[in-house]
Amino acid sequence: MSNVNKVVENKNFTAINLGKLTLLSETSNGKAFLKEITKATGTEISLSVLPANTDLPFFHSHKQNEETYIILSGEGKFQVDDLSFDICEGSIVRVAPEGIRGMTNTSNDQMIYIVIQSKENSLEQYSMEDGVIQDLNAKELLNKLSE
Ligand code: ZN
Repeated sequence: MSNVNKVVENKNFTAINLGKLTLLSETSNGKAFLKEITKATGTEISLSVLPANTDLPFFHSHKQNEETYIILSGEGKFQVDDLSFDICEGSIVRVAPEGIRGMTNTSNDQMIYIVIQSKENSLEQYSMEDGVIQDLNAKELLNKLSE
């Protein structure tokens, strides 16, 4: 992950920039794991590139983590256990830990995709159930910060 730029950080956040995702194979050897660099504690998120007309090198499953694959570009096939199906930009596949998964890029362009890994059944509340509306709007917050 040589070209990861840490943009800004404080006790409540870490912001990074991976550069152009279409250049990920050059800038990050085709795979960027974000947990450590962003100090995430509940997910491992990775951005990956699968070169044109290439299979992932192995099928795999997980011990306790489910994964959600989000395909940003490319076209190909995704397989879980004995079922294979088409994927392309916009495809999203959630796989249970024990699902044996693999994928192939059948297109002549690189496939760029995100994988979000998190502990199965760990999410107790989400979206607005977990959100806390603060009594500040963005402009007021910026003014407060610049004081
Ligand atoms: Zn995995």
